[in-house]
Amino acid sequence: GIIKKLDQSIKRRGSFSMKMKLAEIAKAINAQNEIEQWKDIEVTSVSFDSRHLERGALFIPLQGAHDGHQYVETAFTNGAAATLWASDHELTNNGHPVLVVTDPLKALQQLGKYYLHKINPIVVAVTGSNGKTTTKDMIASILSTQLNVTKTYANFNNEIGVPVTLLNMEANTEVVVVEMGMDRFGQLDFLSKLVSPDIAVITMIGEAHIEFFGTRDRIADAKMEIVNGLKEDGLLVYDGDEPLLNERAAKVAQQTSRFGRQLTDDLYATSVTAGPRSISFKVNEWPDEQFTIPMVGEYNVNNALAAMVVAKRLHISPAHIKTALANVELTENRAEWFKSKNGAQILSDVYNSNPTAAKQVLKTLAAMPVQGRRIAVLGDMLELGDAAPRLHASLATEINPAQIQEVYLIGTEMVHLQSKLLEQGYPATAIHYYHANQLGQLTATLEADLTASDMVLLKASHGLHLEQVLAAIKER
Ligand code: ATP
Ligand code: MG
Repeated sequence: GIIKKLDQSIKRRGSFSMKMKLAEIAKAINAQNEIEQWKDIEVTSVSFDSRHLERGALFIPLQGAHDGHQYVETAFTNGAAATLWASDHELTNNGHPVLVVTDPLKALQQLGKYYLHKINPIVVAVTGSNGKTTTKDMIASILSTQLNVTKTYANFNNEIGVPVTLLNMEANTEVVVVEMGMDRFGQLDFLSKLVSPDIAVITMIGEAHIEFFGTRDRIADAKMEIVNGLKEDGLLVYDGDEPLLNERAAKVAQQTSRFGRQLTDDLYATSVTAGPRSISFKVNEWPDEQFTIPMVGEYNVNNALAAMVVAKRLHISPAHIKTALANVELTENRAEWFKSKNGAQILSDVYNSNPTAAKQVLKTLAAMPVQGRRIAVLGDMLELGDAAPRLHASLATEINPAQIQEVYLIGTEMVHLQSKLLEQGYPATAIHYYHANQLGQLTATLEADLTASDMVLLKASHGLHLEQVLAAIKER
């Protein structure tokens, strides 16, 4: 699972710039073989993908769907300088430089930790059910105005991605911003202890992975593991409007700071105004400033607030914060505007969906000025387990025929939203329901129905592939 996920998220290569001799690496990871003949070979990056590695890379053969050792030869053909090798595998290195270790993944983690200590930057760790990548990008963007920053590349946020992020640091890195994902207990405990954060951020508690955890309480417990490696004089930054986090943060020994929308939060937003392509707001701490983020979806204000708490701790001025947020470069700008072939406006958010985000984006749609109709195309939100029927139905509170005149639903769970809408009197003729395998029919009907004055929202988990609807209807 893990390796496949990472594989999929490699769209382009990061420019890794670690530089160490094999002798140093061998010592850091307790290599078991004699490496005298290779000790001065220099390694300038690490890679677990033999097809995409840079000249001078240390190849890490991981156990995924396939055993990475079968790609060692390819790695050398493509320029690898050396490879790790698991001691339980027969050594067939054909004379290539090799470091034998008990477990290549553990060695990668050990090496990441070693290199982190060597470079010794401030460590900011970011977790949460949603908003990790966005917040990570915002933090990096703000801190970059004053400091040398390395951030997690793309979505490399697991036990492989985190050490790769560390080994990606340039030698002059002053702050490293590390995204940390988790889908089970123990994972954040491990990652947090690996990097010992100076600042740990929990963006929010949602319903992601509730299928596995069962309750939001248990999700909150798992997220709190990010404190386990937090330095004694570190800071925990969290969503102060989430009671589950407030309860738990009260017991944390380190300093804490809350962000949100309530007067009790340390940093809170006021006068939030959502425009068609950006959101403006004010913040209690700097009452004279007006902040703007070039993004859709009000939840992004919270992501920005989390980033601002971090920035404040590192003494970045409000003027720098303001400029950086206004120009933030996101890894993947997930909610984006397009035009259809016949001129309709399309708000596409097709890579991820969950109840919190779907409700917010429906609110955004409902409030948007438009001449024609507002049309919502909604697909299943995955990984909600037993709570799925209730959570899908719950979107009905945001769908009112006066504001959203047409609804296209696709996927097994959307049946529950369909029933709920009918129950609350939404016109049956304005609901178009499709099974997951009827994406083609949905696309054809929608395309035939669209007029130039309409506005369409596309929102679903990526598994529903609404990006295919977008590709079919958008202007080229
Ligand atoms: P992943 O688990 O895939 O790494 P992530 O936590 O990194 O996700 P982002 O990539 O920042 O999250 O955002 C993904 C989606 O989550 C967004 O498109 C949006 O729908 C939703 N989202 C982002 N921030 C928030 C938030 N603060 N609250 C609720 N939903 C959010
Ligand atoms: Mg992410």
